[in-house]
Amino acid sequence: MDSKGLEERCNRILREMEGSLTARDRVGIQDFVLLDNYTSESAFLDNLRKRFHENLIYTYIGTLLVSVNPYKELGIYSKKQMDIYMGVNFFELPPHIFALADNVYRTMLSETNNHFILISGESGAGKTEACKKVLQFYAVSCPSTRVLDNVRDRLLLSNPVLEAFGNAKTLKNDNSSRFGKYMDIQFDHKGGAVGGHILNYLLEKSRVVHQNHGERNFHIFYQLVEGGEDELLRWLGLERDCQKYSCLVRGNCAKVSSINDKSDWRTVQKAFTVIDFSESDVEHLLAIIASVLHLGNVQFEKGVRGYATLNNSLEVHWLSKLLGIPPQILQQGLTHRKIEAKSEEVLSPFTIDHAKYARDALAKAIYGRTFNWLVGKINESLVNKDSTRKTVIGLIDIYGFEVFQTNSFEQFCINYCNEKLQQLFIQLTLKSEQEEYETEGIEWEPVPYFNNKIICDLVEEKHRGMISVLQDEECLRPGEATDLTFLEKLEETLSGHPHFITLVFTTNRHKLADQKTRKTLDRGDFRLIHYAGEVTYSVKGFLDKNNDLLYRNIKEVMRQSQNNIIKHCFPASEPDSKRRPETVATQFKTSLTGLTEILMSKEPWYVRCVKPNDGKQPGRFDDVIVRHQVKYLGLMEHLRVRRAGFAYRRRYEVFLQRYKPLCPDTWPNWKGTAAEGVQKLVEHLGYKKEEYKMGRTKIFIRHPRTLFATEDAFDVC
Ligand code: ADP
Ligand code: MG
Repeated sequence: MDSKGLEERCNRILREMEGSLTARDRVGIQDFVLLDNYTSESAFLDNLRKRFHENLIYTYIGTLLVSVNPYKELGIYSKKQMDIYMGVNFFELPPHIFALADNVYRTMLSETNNHFILISGESGAGKTEACKKVLQFYAVSCPSTRVLDNVRDRLLLSNPVLEAFGNAKTLKNDNSSRFGKYMDIQFDHKGGAVGGHILNYLLEKSRVVHQNHGERNFHIFYQLVEGGEDELLRWLGLERDCQKYSCLVRGNCAKVSSINDKSDWRTVQKAFTVIDFSESDVEHLLAIIASVLHLGNVQFEKGVRGYATLNNSLEVHWLSKLLGIPPQILQQGLTHRKIEAKSEEVLSPFTIDHAKYARDALAKAIYGRTFNWLVGKINESLVNKDSTRKTVIGLIDIYGFEVFQTNSFEQFCINYCNEKLQQLFIQLTLKSEQEEYETEGIEWEPVPYFNNKIICDLVEEKHRGMISVLQDEECLRPGEATDLTFLEKLEETLSGHPHFITLVFTTNRHKLADQKTRKTLDRGDFRLIHYAGEVTYSVKGFLDKNNDLLYRNIKEVMRQSQNNIIKHCFPASEPDSKRRPETVATQFKTSLTGLTEILMSKEPWYVRCVKPNDGKQPGRFDDVIVRHQVKYLGLMEHLRVRRAGFAYRRRYEVFLQRYKPLCPDTWPNWKGTAAEGVQKLVEHLGYKKEEYKMGRTKIFIRHPRTLFATEDAFDVC
């Protein structure tokens, strides 16, 4: 492009921007940074609403993408759309998830560094869909060869498999992710996707044995029962009727109109073959899924002295066949536990309640461990065998903040995870951005924001935090501690904390119902004031779920299995529970700290997903609900910082290195300091005074337009 071409292009961009201003009344503004009244929450909401009603679900705040779930197909994700967005400067086209994906990709290639896209928002806001769109975009837009296509297909097809095993219908979302996922996509220097790696976080295992009303177990069970071929079901001892399996009908909604279990089953089967599952892997995997169904149906009878017995149970017959464990051994493992008495091991029989507890613990353990195996297996198939230098784009799609009528340990972990991600967002945007202006000596009016660190600390602080109290309560007083003693301990430790409320130490506040569910506090509850709202948790089951106890002898029983996956999941070398291992919440905390470290070493990009209403309905924009999310997602603060600040910054050395060919004074070698070189360069390029600032180590550029023009000029060279 010659200089005239460049000028025309810039003018076109400006015209388009102005054009979009005149059309503003109808379709709103595509970048909140351009909003006149940018400090007004109502103006922000008006813009989002206008665009939503025009089916324009995406809006920028600088490079951050806000997405509102349309709850309908918009036809904006076709191959044609992908082509339009490929390789085009970010602000030249209407906002889109593809534009963001493309921009991240090109920045990664030009700067040869690592990036991540943090997709956040509450349950049902559209995170998983956004994540899939990014992956699909890369699948289509990256260079293609036979080998690369193979990797691409595996990356794509890992999704339906993980969703089948890790997603379920909840009251918030028919396809709710019940595990956290961080996925690295690895690229070679030419931009080809050469491999990937998935880290999974805390699967909600309790769903295997219990579902609240209106919710389902994990999709895979229904897919198998609905879609499995007759012969397969016969081999697994299953009937084609979900109603026959008690762990599929606890929520009383085995059928969901938005889900087609049969066709999803076919997709999963196809995926298995693409991601290198051998026939025997699939057989063993399905045998495990069927085992969990049979296990759920195991019923105990009262035997001698009221102890639990299992007589000639059909379920045990199938379990024995599918897991390859002799029936007597299974039977004994399900009705007894081994205890040590005077250095001797004796079998102690279970009561019926105890046996049910052990049965459920086994079902959860089998499923949870198999899920981990599955992720490991997918990772094997995504390993990049070539050891040349790679750069990565990480995608984070984690369960969103959720509030139900009754909230338990699972919600506590999920919401804590969301606090951590919000903290990361704050650290990387609001806090570090403002600190950077300060250290670079750029004049700056600080923007106040709510820092949720206080809540993260409340949950995770060493010694005093809730997770620590939970771990101690169990470890230091095994057998004595109960959910209520845990609550009392919390009250002792956290008394007066502004974000922690229970019935006991608040006299006035406890009378208040929480905002969302209108629930008043009972004695067994505590309430946390999260960044995203108040949640009342019932402490019932906390200790147990956190402990996640599986008796030693049932592990020994599993070790005898002939099923390869079970063998792998219950290794002989597993440390026994004499020395108490870290509990679930403590492990979760550790893995989230690990995730934060992974992310801190990469360049961040954000997609903030917004849910327009609580009814999963298309076309309905509920002001109260959206306003609440805009508030807690920190969008107004982010906009203020963006608006007052500079969209781009580059270290002088990097900037000079890249653009020095554009100026005869700096090309080929600049003798002075990098800062002086950059000054020369921008003067030559005709940057206006108000468009940039020179910091201590970096140049700050107010508007992306300026940088684009420079990039375009660079293309011409
Ligand atoms: P989350 O992962 O945030 O809990 P999902 O991404 O699973 O939410 O979205 C919930 C549902 O909303 C999806 O199953 C889909 O029906 C709908 N949805 C989300 N994003 C879009 C989109 N961009 N276009 C159309 N429908 C969407
Ligand atoms: Mg999801």
